Amino acid sequence: MKIDEIRLCEYCHGVIPDTRNKNSKYCCDTCYCKNKAEIAIDMQKKKVHALLILMNDEIIHDLYLKYESKFYINAKELIDRGFNWTIYNASIIINNLPAKSLIRYGYTLFNNQSVQLWKL
Ligand SMILES: [Zn+2]
Repeated sequence: MKIDEIRLCEYCHGVIPDTRNKNSKYCCDTCYCKNKAEIAIDMQKKKVHALLILMNDEIIHDLYLKYESKFYINAKELIDRGFNWTIYNASIIINNLPAKSLIRYGYTLFNNQSVQLWKL
């Protein structure tokens, strides 16, 4: 085996034996299956994350119809509706305030547990 013919497994980074199909990216069926399983789990996690962002967005949508951006509301209003603070799209700045973005809405959580809602 010449050095430029050495192929490394995309899963374990071990050498792919010559006996494997020349297009194979994996050294053995186990690595192939483990990689496939991890991709499936990853896709599932992304789906769950997207769903949780949507649920948070729905909660803020309901509250925004009531309060818009005009009022500071208590974080408890969101907590009571099952809001998940660890789930958001990105950290952004709105009106010079640090905020978290969801889909249609964002919010700023202040140290005193009050929240300002934003329509994006
Ligand atoms: Zn491998």
